Amino acid sequence: MKRKEKILKDLAVIKRKQLAEKHGSLNPIFCGGCGHFTALNSIYNTMYNLKINYKNLVVVSGIGCSGRSPGFIKSFGFHGVHGRALPIATGVKLANPKLDVIVIGGDGDGLGIGGGHLPHAARMNINITYLLLDNSLYGLTKGQAAATTPFGQITPTTPYGNPGHELDPIKLSLVQGATFVARGFSGYPDELNDMVTEGVKHKGFSLIHVLSPCVTFNKSETYDLYYKTCEQLPKKRDLKNLQKAIGYAAEEKNYLGIFYQKKMNTLEDNFQNIINFVADKR
Ligand code: SF4
Repeated sequence: MKRKEKILKDLAVIKRKQLAEKHGSLNPIFCGGCGHFTALNSIYNTMYNLKINYKNLVVVSGIGCSGRSPGFIKSFGFHGVHGRALPIATGVKLANPKLDVIVIGGDGDGLGIGGGHLPHAARMNINITYLLLDNSLYGLTKGQAAATTPFGQITPTTPYGNPGHELDPIKLSLVQGATFVARGFSGYPDELNDMVTEGVKHKGFSLIHVLSPCVTFNKSETYDLYYKTCEQLPKKRDLKNLQKAIGYAAEEKNYLGIFYQKKMNTLEDNFQNIINFVADKR
């Protein structure tokens, strides 16, 4: 490395350390244009909108590009192992229900390796918010096929086309009992900010599926494609109507907006009821 380049690199490291000391977090290191910037920003905006004290917030992630996010947020954070963000977040919330808990992770982490945990978080209605950033592949490891890679897509691990069909987290969460289900797109940051704020305000499990393009490895699921194909859910709709929500999710469209929202006791409420019942008996 030439001397000048080395000096510039050292200066960049020093600047990053200074910023880290000031804000208590590191600068995001996503590729320029990555959809994950918008998702991260929606968490900053939600903290501002809801006046969330960073000492009261825990951000949990698994592995993947988006898994690095807790390091870029001034809050408590837990960068766990692959696919295990939801069980870790469940433990955090049950240990201290007063905390705000946000999970952030990718489609590979949350629907492939950790796919078994989403139905249980949904059915138990634990009061946490899950931002599932979907770029339709494994970005951190250079673009291999993941659970949401479309059928027929060519990737480094599917050179003759993906033989499997993609998994839809909206349909899965709706049928498994999630009480807040929404889809946003990194290309519409204001809408995503509002959606994440509503998701955090919701008392129960909130799944926010974010179409978040990987500009480096995915040349198919791009901003252009989503700008052309995404549609807003109809304005007049009953958010409590599960059958309608499933109907919208089943259409061959990338609908954006809140599909479904319902009030229900949370897992923490149910545990508290059991504790009260046992205490009364004694
Ligand atoms: Fe984003 Fe893709 Fe770069 Fe990962 S590899 S930071 S998902 S653009």
